[in-house]
Amino acid sequence: MFIQSHVPQHAELHLLFSMITPLGWLERVPTYKEQRENITEKDLTTYGFLGYPVLQAADILMYKGDFVPVGEDQVPHVELTREIARRFNQFYGKVTPVFPEPQPLLTPTPKLPGTDGRKMSKSYGNTIMLTDPEPVVRQKLKTMVTDPARVRRTDPGDPDKCPVGDLHKIFSSPETVAKVNIGCRSAGIGCIECKGWAADALVQVLQPMQERRKKYEENPRLAWDILEAGSASASKVADATMADVRASMGMSLQYEPPKSNGSK
Ligand code: SF4
Repeated sequence: MFIQSHVPQHAELHLLFSMITPLGWLERVPTYKEQRENITEKDLTTYGFLGYPVLQAADILMYKGDFVPVGEDQVPHVELTREIARRFNQFYGKVTPVFPEPQPLLTPTPKLPGTDGRKMSKSYGNTIMLTDPEPVVRQKLKTMVTDPARVRRTDPGDPDKCPVGDLHKIFSSPETVAKVNIGCRSAGIGCIECKGWAADALVQVLQPMQERRKKYEENPRLAWDILEAGSASASKVADATMADVRASMGMSLQYEPPKSNGSK
């Protein structure tokens, strides 16, 4: 665990990758289009925003991992990372490839929806935070969107089309998931009851984390120690990667004076 900006090699690799990444690859990234349509209050017409997946590729490839644990919406970013790795290897790694082509690693439930049913994102203001206390979690769940087919209490629904159903699949016990499946499809349960169960499951996951977090809130130095040690180990790996990258591109950080021809 480390702070990305404490390992400035990421910025260097990002710059070098940005030189070989065609613009069309970035413009086709689904989250780029989606966020430009959804986030209108910010100016997203910058290279930094368009090139964000290039920085992610640098973040991933710096450590030459074979797998990247991601949510479903990030799979195109891993695919782009693979394309950047392939292109770099074609240009500069003909003898020995410099980078592996990492694969996405998905869980059985790769999508975690936000309270409005869109993907959960701070930019959308639809998040349930790991730090949210129980009353806040319950309140957020209460206003969460559900399967639109359940207009009245007597209308049957489908948990596979409901963001609350997705939360159950991730956080609830198999028994509760079974109760939701039967109850929702037969209109045997109401959404308020169902959301209450989802909130119970979430709170059960969050509370032990929040307990453990208190120690670090009271003494932030403990958290900094972890981050500083993490940044130091990450830096070592990043240094080795950048040495490979510079060598394969024929770049040097050393000043080498021109060879003297003997004349004075
Ligand atoms: S009963 Fe549960 S799963 Fe079904 S629509 Fe309502 S909130 Fe969603």
